[in-house]
Amino acid sequence: MGFKLASTGGKGVLVAGDHYFDVHAASAGRLPADPMLLLEQTKALTLLSSQLGSIEPTGQLDDVTLDAPIPRPRNSFAIGLNYRNHAVEAGLPIPPAPMVFTKYPSCITGPTANIEMRSDYVDFEGELVAVIGKTAKNVALEDALDYIAGLCIGQDISDRPAQFTSAPPQFNLGKSFDTYGPIGPALISIDEINPNDPMMLTTEVNGEIRQHESTRDLIFDIPYLVAYLSQILTLYPGDLIFTGTPGGVGVVEGRFLKDGDIIKTSIEGLGMIENRCVRISDHSRATEIPDALKAAMANAQAK
Ligand code: ZN
Repeated sequence: MGFKLASTGGKGVLVAGDHYFDVHAASAGRLPADPMLLLEQTKALTLLSSQLGSIEPTGQLDDVTLDAPIPRPRNSFAIGLNYRNHAVEAGLPIPPAPMVFTKYPSCITGPTANIEMRSDYVDFEGELVAVIGKTAKNVALEDALDYIAGLCIGQDISDRPAQFTSAPPQFNLGKSFDTYGPIGPALISIDEINPNDPMMLTTEVNGEIRQHESTRDLIFDIPYLVAYLSQILTLYPGDLIFTGTPGGVGVVEGRFLKDGDIIKTSIEGLGMIENRCVRISDHSRATEIPDALKAAMANAQAK
């Protein structure tokens, strides 16, 4: 038995069925309200979760808007080309080591937040997200799961012109526009769900299934990514690892997101996040398709 930790109004809440429980209040003040501080209290959250049957819920989930369960991660990593079928559709070889880039933490937003698009070439990438639960440095592969607090769903929203505009391409900015990192709906602790068990990931845009793949297709799994990253830098509680997206992304078919589109991303056992796309002002590169993006699209289409 583990816990489901969400966040609303700046406070950490435990989710049970259709209800939520304010952690600070439900623990009679023993646990902090800030969801970032709660990540280091996983044992206490598990204990409190087991006692919820005798505690009055704070309210109904339907009555509140959830924020990102991890609202202020210190670092937010993402992995490119980490599903075999996505590498194949991109016409690229399987990477020999994880291809790591940054989604700057300022892009992280809630599970139902709007995506504020600033070009006509914005794409979806449904992803399983791992959340670090304790400080990790030089972690051995066999110990890596001990450093995971839990899992949630994420969308690695990508502005393809910005992603491919420099030469060689540098992904960080194109993946980090404000609002381009919705996560949620809750952090599901790894007592509830084993990251090594295959889970189906599905992305729908306006009800049409665009991605549907098992996490079994991951090239570098979550324990490997934690061990690998921790050999290079220190991972801290709340750090996010977007583990990569399966095949089906829009760029391959030239079908990008449009104003008003609804993206629903679900993962077995983790629920669903739902985000509306809103087209706002252009960014400076919005009207140009960089040659590197044209080449990437041609490469994918010629695969
Ligand atoms: Zn991605």
